[in-house]
Amino acid sequence: MTSADADAVTQDFADRHGRPPAGVWVAPGRVNLIGEHTDYNDGFVMPFALAQAVTVAAAPRDDDRWSVTSLSTGETREFGRADLVPGMSGWQAYVAGVVWALAEAGHAVGGADLVLTSDVPIGAGLSSSAALECAVLAAFADLDGLAVEPLERAVLARRCENAFVGAPTGLMDQAASTLCTADHALFFDCRTLEAVQVALDLGDAGLELLVLDTNTPHTHVDGEYADRRATCEEAAALLGVPALRDVTDLDAALAALPDPVMQRRVRHVVTENARVRAAAEVLRTGRVAELAPLLDASHTSMRDDFEITVPTVDLAVETARAAGATGARMTGGGFGGCIIALVPTGRADAVAAAVAEAFATAGHAAPEHFVGVPSQGAHRAV
Ligand code: ADP
Ligand code: MG
Repeated sequence: MTSADADAVTQDFADRHGRPPAGVWVAPGRVNLIGEHTDYNDGFVMPFALAQAVTVAAAPRDDDRWSVTSLSTGETREFGRADLVPGMSGWQAYVAGVVWALAEAGHAVGGADLVLTSDVPIGAGLSSSAALECAVLAAFADLDGLAVEPLERAVLARRCENAFVGAPTGLMDQAASTLCTADHALFFDCRTLEAVQVALDLGDAGLELLVLDTNTPHTHVDGEYADRRATCEEAAALLGVPALRDVTDLDAALAALPDPVMQRRVRHVVTENARVRAAAEVLRTGRVAELAPLLDASHTSMRDDFEITVPTVDLAVETARAAGATGARMTGGGFGGCIIALVPTGRADAVAAAVAEAFATAGHAAPEHFVGVPSQGAHRAV
C-alpha cells in the first residue's frame, strides 16, 4: 500500500458516491519464507506480510445492498442479501463471501459502498485474494462495530475463500494478512493455530529478500495439489498417525511405506516441518544469515522429493544463487509462481537482472521483481 493508494480510493469514493468514505482499511499480501505443503499436514509455516496490499475505502448505505468498485479492474459490481449464495462467480465473490461468512458466524453486516485498489500482483501466489478478503473484513468489522478477534477474522476470511468462492486453501494466507506485524515473520502452527511473531531483521544482517515472479503460468496445479494431498493423507493412515506432522522417526516411517513416490513425499513434509522450526530458531537467536541454507534445502526437497518445481523456477533459483544470492527457493504451492532469494543488501536488482538475462536466453517471458519488506497486517489506515 502506498499513501497514493489511500488517496486514490478516497478521491474515487467521493466522486462516485457523492460523500466521503467513513474510513480506509488496508490488508497486505504475503510471501512464505519457508514451509511448503506443510499446512494440510497439520504442520508449520512461516510467512511475512508484504508492503503490497489491498486498500479499501468504505461507508455504510441505508439499504441492504453492497456496491464494490475495483480500481484494479475498473469494474463496479453490486449484490444484495439474496445474492449471498456460495459459488458466486466473479471477483466480487471475495467481498460477498466475507459478508456471508460474517453473517453465518452471527455477525450482522449492513449494506455498504466500497472502492478498492491493490498493488499485490494478482495470481502470482502472493495472496492478493486473502489481502482482498482481509481488507474488506476489517472494513465491515469497523463499520458495523463487530467484535471479531484477529484469529477469527482470519478463519472467517478463509471460510469465504473455501466455502463461498470455492478455492481449497489452508489458513496461512489469511493468518498472515491479518496477524503479521512489521519487521516480523509469523511462525504459525496449522494444527493449534498458535501464532508467534519472530523478529526478521534482514537489514541488520546485511541482507534483503528478493521476490521474483517467474511469470510461469501454473498448469495442472489443481490436480497435482490434490494428488500430493491424497498421498500425504494415505501415508498418515498407513503410519497410524493423525497427520504427517506426527511422524517423529523419519527412517522408521520410510521403512514402513510401500512406495518410493510416497516415501519421497513424506520425506519432504517431515523435513520441511523441521526446516520451519529451524528457521524460527535461527531468527530467534539472531542468526539471520543461517536462513540461507534452509531455503536452499527447502528448494531441493520441493524439486527432488515433492516434485512440485518446474524448469523455469529451477532456472530462476539456480541463476539467483550463481549471481550472489546466499540462498533461494520457490515459494508457494508450486508449478510456477514466485521465488525468493536472500541477497546482500543492494544486490536485489543485479540478481534479478541475471535471472532476466537467463530467462531471455531460454526464451521465457521477463520476470518481475521487488524487495519484500516484512510489513504490518490488516489495519485501518484513515
Ligand atoms: P493470488 O491470491 O495468488 O493472487 P488467487 O487466484 O487466489 O491468486 O486470487 C486472485 C483473484 O482474486 C483474482 O482473480 C480476483 O478474482 C481476486 N482479486 C484479487 N485482487 C483483486 C483486485 N484488486 N480487484 C479485483 N479482484 C481481485
Ligand atoms: Mg489466493
